[in-house]
Amino acid sequence: MSVHQLPGEVWIQVLGYLCVADKHSVRATCIDFRELVDCGLLWKDWTIVLAFPKASYNSPFWEMLRRRKINKVVVRSTRAKDWRQLARCLPSITTVVMERSSQEILDVLKNFTHLKHLAVRCSCTSLLLTASAVHKAERLTHLSICRVQFPSKSIEHLISAFIDFRNLTSLVCHDTELNEECTMTTYLILGCLPRLKHLSLTCGRNVQAVLRHTTPLPVKEAHALSSLELIHCDHSLPQDAMKLLPNLQRLVLIYKYSDKDFVADIWFAAMREDLKAWLSALHRLSTLVIKLGPHVNRYVPNLIHLHIDPWPSCLGTITAEIPQLFPKLQSLKIRGKHVPEEDFLGFQKMADLRYVEMLDSRPQFSEMAAKLQVLTKYRVQVIDSHQRDILDCDCSL
Ligand SMILES: [Zn+2]
Repeated sequence: MSVHQLPGEVWIQVLGYLCVADKHSVRATCIDFRELVDCGLLWKDWTIVLAFPKASYNSPFWEMLRRRKINKVVVRSTRAKDWRQLARCLPSITTVVMERSSQEILDVLKNFTHLKHLAVRCSCTSLLLTASAVHKAERLTHLSICRVQFPSKSIEHLISAFIDFRNLTSLVCHDTELNEECTMTTYLILGCLPRLKHLSLTCGRNVQAVLRHTTPLPVKEAHALSSLELIHCDHSLPQDAMKLLPNLQRLVLIYKYSDKDFVADIWFAAMREDLKAWLSALHRLSTLVIKLGPHVNRYVPNLIHLHIDPWPSCLGTITAEIPQLFPKLQSLKIRGKHVPEEDFLGFQKMADLRYVEMLDSRPQFSEMAAKLQVLTKYRVQVIDSHQRDILDCDCSL
């Protein structure tokens, strides 16, 4: 069939069903298909990873990216000249991820005049990241800082840099080696960025029990915050902390320890009590993720999405309880090493359940998955894999 026998819009619809490899095969057949495949509609929300190999990229490559309207880029080069070429060739970029950062490439950021989302990761030397590093600080809505060293280890120093990014709605701040404990960091950040909807933090290291409750709760509630992610969250916030987050819909808790032997029973019991208290204050919670922590034994009637990856020894008891504790679940992700078949098939009791993802599944898992699908008349989709968003860092994996 000739490309001209169908209108362009119809071809775009058809090509939209193809995977990337197939799109590229079609693109290689003739100039007409090359133009069709490079239509921006087919690459909406697409992110490109640029490693800048020695041969670098030629002008047809940049022209192809411009036609596809690519505006999200992950860059793996540390050479400032590559960054300058990127700013020159793709001036409309809105999202930049620096996978390995340095002060030299940070200084090129000003050249990206449309920047809204910035992620800075893995610096070997300390970086001076302030509002003056970007073209317009007030345009930035998403900022992610992960494993980056700063000239000062004081949170006040970082906060003074954040204040100028006043329109931030999402802030990720991981492994920045700041001295402060998590409670103080959280309150200071929420106080200076009132528009924040999503906050992800790595909590301070080795926070001792005596530090808990030493920070008084601020009077003001953070009404905008709907998503909170705490990495290494063991004993990080006081039990009444969630009262300040009345609109929180998503809570992600990733605990520090990977081996129960390191955790005293009393410490573990305290974590369970903290978790119970936090959940009791969150009346709008619809998504809960808990990794390497205690199991949840509190009734959360309106929870829609649950991802639970607890201590292996705890999983056996919780699996059977899930339908009673979370009756409205629509999606469930669970590490499945020790899930008894009877309990797994019990998931059919959740009438709204549509999606089950098993992590770390056993060989006989596909048989169990097929049984659950039959029992739910194929209402529930069961998969055993997980794909991560390339724009996210891997701290919460
Ligand atoms: Zn991270």
